[in-house]
Amino acid sequence: MVMWSDLPKEAMDDCFRPPDEPCQVQCLHCGEQYSSADIVWRESADGGFWSCPIEGCGGAGFQFDIHPVDSTLWRGDEYEEDDYDIESVGHVDDYDVTDVFEDPGDDFDLPY
Ligand SMILES: [Zn+2]
Repeated sequence: MVMWSDLPKEAMDDCFRPPDEPCQVQCLHCGEQYSSADIVWRESADGGFWSCPIEGCGGAGFQFDIHPVDSTLWRGDEYEEDDYDIESVGHVDDYDVTDVFEDPGDDFDLPY
């Protein structure tokens, strides 16, 4: 359990606040990995923001620039076709696929 002591109310209410239970995270900007407990609150003119602790890095916000290392974001397979189930799309029953290939017609020319 991380003790977020001495933090302003804005920090506690911020939607990019790191989780109470620390996890290993990686920054999109600098690529560094560290514990989410190391994410720092930086005061700014309009309140402040949760920021990457790495010196000179502009990464900000848990789940924004800084993501858990086990996030699907790092695997890049969010749009893999395995997740796409054509049966769930509906109207498949209205489409008879055999009609299309039954009679290719005289103009149909195999390329081999
Ligand atoms: Zn960073």
